[in-house]
Amino acid sequence: MNEIKYNGEKIPYTIKKSKIKNLYIHIKEGKVIVKAPIKLKEEYIQEFINKKSKWIYENVKRYEKKPKIEEKIEAKDIERLKEIIEKSILKYSKTLQVIPNKIRIKDIKYAWGSCSSKKNITINLKLAKKDEKAIEYVVLHEMCHLKEMNHSKKFWNLVEKNMPDYKIYKNKLKEY
Ligand SMILES: [Zn+2]
Repeated sequence: MNEIKYNGEKIPYTIKKSKIKNLYIHIKEGKVIVKAPIKLKEEYIQEFINKKSKWIYENVKRYEKKPKIEEKIEAKDIERLKEIIEKSILKYSKTLQVIPNKIRIKDIKYAWGSCSSKKNITINLKLAKKDEKAIEYVVLHEMCHLKEMNHSKKFWNLVEKNMPDYKIYKNKLKEY
C-alpha cells in the first residue's frame, strides 16, 4: 500500500498508470488517486507526491470534516417515505391481491425491509434518502413475501411480473 506521510498521519493512495502525458492527482470523496504515464519512473512520482503532500493532506481532511448528508434523515424525508410506501402498497395490493397486516418504518441494520409470518412488514428508515423507485421495489419485494416466504424462482417471477425492471433498483440497493 502506498502512503503519504504528512503532519504525523498516513494517507493511502493508489497509482493508476495509463497512456497519458502528465502526472495528475485526483482526490475524490477523500480518496487519493495518482494518475501517471506508463513509463514515468517511480522516483519521479514519489517526488511529485511528496511536494504535494500538504495540498493532498488538506484536501483529504476537508472531506473528512464534511458531515455526511446521506445519514441526516429529516422529518420531511420520513413523510416522503411514508407517502411512497402507502402509494406502493395501494398499487401492489391490487395486482398481488394481498395486504400487509402492519407496516413499520424502523432503523434496521441487516436489510432494507422484512416480512414476518404474521404478515407484518418493516421498512428500513434509511430508504428515506433513496429514489422513489427503489423504495417501491422494497415494498413490492416484501409484499411478494406475503405470498412466497422465500427467495425461490416463483418469488422472483412474481416481483418481475409487477416490476419488470426491478433489477436496476435491487442492484442500487446492494449494501444488504
Ligand atoms: Zn426477501
